[in-house]
Amino acid sequence: MSARSLVQETEAASSEYLVTRLRPLHRHSEIYTIYMVPLNGDYKVSFLAIGDVHGHWDCVIEAIARARSILGEVPDLVLQVGDAEPHRNAEDLAGCRTPKKHRSLGDFSALVTGDIQSPVYFIGGNHEPYVALDALPGPFPAPWGDDLSVYYLGRAGAAILEDKLKVAWLSGISSAHADPGKRSQSRRARTYFSPIDVATMLRDASRLSEIDVLVTHDWPSVLKPDWGNKVTTELIETIKPTLHVCGHMHTSYEGKVGDTIVNAMTAVPPVTKNQGRKRGGWWRLYVRDESGGIRCLAVGK
Ligand SMILES: [Zn+2]
Repeated sequence: MSARSLVQETEAASSEYLVTRLRPLHRHSEIYTIYMVPLNGDYKVSFLAIGDVHGHWDCVIEAIARARSILGEVPDLVLQVGDAEPHRNAEDLAGCRTPKKHRSLGDFSALVTGDIQSPVYFIGGNHEPYVALDALPGPFPAPWGDDLSVYYLGRAGAAILEDKLKVAWLSGISSAHADPGKRSQSRRARTYFSPIDVATMLRDASRLSEIDVLVTHDWPSVLKPDWGNKVTTELIETIKPTLHVCGHMHTSYEGKVGDTIVNAMTAVPPVTKNQGRKRGGWWRLYVRDESGGIRCLAVGK
């Protein structure tokens, strides 16, 4: 097994393994799975990945609390895969392309300093307050909200987050009509990533080398017929991250592109009446060891 491989332990419990079944804090949640791996303190970084939030930031708080109960401390950082909908006010919501029936301010505006206990880094999905996000002058990651430990990663880039984890990211979804010059013309046009964004990300990633995690909203194209996009597949093949996390399809999925483990996450509960019942895999807790290997410790159900 290569040093940069990701190991997901699922074997039966033994005394040396952490075996915990916890009652969830969230009233819609079920018992979640703990992937049983020894916690002997050999990891260097711990991080959560969280699926589409769609304004339900109480779920972010809950996921961090779950991670804390597993690690004994809060994770070093949180990566959120887009459709975060962190609306600070009605103006933010007005700049977000969302079907009328899903249109909601959400609970982000109710957050106060200290609610979010690990820094949360989010990318843009296809439902996002892009008018306000695009107006941010940068540099990115840029703080979002008043002193909340929430940061927008921007359209595209790569950086060592919290001085610990090499992360590359690309906001938005793929479209043949993408044109950054026309982005300001419609809320729909803002939801697409452009060839310039892709080039920006590749340039920044190449400066860092050996990317730990690639964060995109949509899936790569090769995992399920008619799902995902080729650009994301090519990005994975080019920068070869240890782990790729994505959301968008509101479906939990584990796959591989080359040596890269791909973990797609479902949306946080609740989303819709139907999807609210089917949300296994809305968060994943990982640790990365000194050699660069990444292990998934737990999956939210
Ligand atoms: Zn979504």
